[in-house]
Amino acid sequence: MNLEKRFQVPPHAKLKLAKHDPDDTANVAGKERCEAALAKNIARLFELQTLLAASNQYAVLIVLQAMDAGGKDGTIRHVMTGLNPQACRVTSFKVPSEEEVRHDFLWRIHNATPKRGEIGIFNRSHYEDVLVARVHKLVPKSVWQARYDQINAFEQNLVENNTVILKFFLHISKDEQKRRVEQRIHDPLKNWKISEADFAERRFWDDYVEAYEDAISKCSTKHAPWYVIPANRKWFRNLAVSQILEDRMDALKMKYPPPKIDLSKIRIE
Ligand code: AMP
Ligand code: MG
Repeated sequence: MNLEKRFQVPPHAKLKLAKHDPDDTANVAGKERCEAALAKNIARLFELQTLLAASNQYAVLIVLQAMDAGGKDGTIRHVMTGLNPQACRVTSFKVPSEEEVRHDFLWRIHNATPKRGEIGIFNRSHYEDVLVARVHKLVPKSVWQARYDQINAFEQNLVENNTVILKFFLHISKDEQKRRVEQRIHDPLKNWKISEADFAERRFWDDYVEAYEDAISKCSTKHAPWYVIPANRKWFRNLAVSQILEDRMDALKMKYPPPKIDLSKIRIE
């Protein structure tokens, strides 16, 4: 099953989220099989990460976006759990600081992009500047509207400089969000995760849907595609993200570099 193809939004195609089922599991049967497949992918991702570092030619950037409680943290925990922390960096983007808002919106983003040999994971990203900024009118329409082209140009620059970009929208339903927020209330171990936004932003669900549809439609490009991942079932979400990441990294056909010295001449005394 080619999940990469199945969930990729074709370049600049008009996206309607209502047409994407958040419960879809691509006919991959059952939680157990998905979890077994995930374990294999995690092992392979570790090998690919080692190759990435050794060959030192590419950087990999993973962008995670979702509605509140959509599973960004869980995806990082479950899919990236086998990676070597030494060559992997997670950046969580929050409300911009006073200094950050005085720069262009991509300033803090560019500063966090991975270098060659490294995997960078964005927990939220520059897309917030066409999502929350649009929904809550943090900037005038003319400002956020201009950002789609700016994002495309920025991402193209990264790709031309050997960064591989994967953008995942973790697609949950409004009901599933409700269940997850309720869990955060009822499970004492999850209480700490509850934020004002989990309640307040729910009222803006439809506005966010519209903002996501626009952002993904305008910024799914050949060089930096968006994937809409059905995310109501966490086990399928994890499998899909790990599979697509593995396939994209495999496609790089990375090779270990030859040894720097002539091994036949080495004598260890
Ligand atoms: P969390 O990811 O749950 O820790 O929440 C981070 C918060 O930061 C969310 O409410 C985001 O909407 C907010 N945030 C992230 N980036 C931006 C941005 N560029 N502008 C405004 N708010 C942002
Ligand atoms: Mg949150």
